[in-house]
Amino acid sequence: MLSNQKIYEGKAKILYTTNDPEILLTYFKDDATAFNAQKKGKIIGKGKINCTISSYIFQILKANNIPTHFIDCPQSDQMRVRRVKILPIEVIVRNIAAGSLCRQTGLTEGTILKFPLVEYCYKNDDLQDPLLTRDRLLLLELATPEQLDQIRTLTLKINDLLTNLFNQCQITLVDFKIEFGLDKDENLILADEISPDSCRLWDLSQADPNQRVMDKDRFRRDLGNVENAYQQVLERILAHQGSNTP
Ligand code: UDP
Repeated sequence: MLSNQKIYEGKAKILYTTNDPEILLTYFKDDATAFNAQKKGKIIGKGKINCTISSYIFQILKANNIPTHFIDCPQSDQMRVRRVKILPIEVIVRNIAAGSLCRQTGLTEGTILKFPLVEYCYKNDDLQDPLLTRDRLLLLELATPEQLDQIRTLTLKINDLLTNLFNQCQITLVDFKIEFGLDKDENLILADEISPDSCRLWDLSQADPNQRVMDKDRFRRDLGNVENAYQQVLERILAHQGSNTP
């Protein structure tokens, strides 16, 4: 499978071509980075865990009419996806205040937001992924107004579906980042991954602000037990899958 040509290596994934020009193979790595790659490490087993979690989530979204690049998961750390051109926008949705929202607005971590906040960052490492306004985004022609409207509508629907899914796993979906791409016919499609690397996930049964963390913040903030937390998210997702398979 991996004998095909490597076309891109990112911080957490490698992309390979396949025999079909419209299909790519994504290999999920154990490598972890934070703070614009200033902090580097490995989370053992992360590649398989994130690929398995992402695959299940993409299947749920697909079943709910969200177009995704997911095709299948031939091995636990490999995902076949439709080839898309990724838009250089990180779409962030927040249900509860955390991270940069607290740093930039003074809101206290854990504040429940009155409505889901949809934000856009410029996917640009040199500029350190700055927050964009709608007008800046349009000025830079990162998306058209129509694409932006479609992104917002899809994103809010994804937030509803994911909030519900994680709730059933006794996990609070605090916030998450998603990316969209365009296929060869310029259709907007959800791409990249949705995993504990790209979501803030808090254990519903834990009130302690450190103990409840089940996502990459354990790595960012040196909280320890990173592998265990990722594994725990996987186990709850697999239990959900098991109880929802006819
Ligand atoms: N996020 C991500 N990749 C990024 C930036 C953010 O996956 O390059 C996710 C992050 O894991 C969190 C959400 O987006 O779930 C919001 O992140 P925030 O802006 O609070 O960033 P941080 O506090 O990590 O700087």
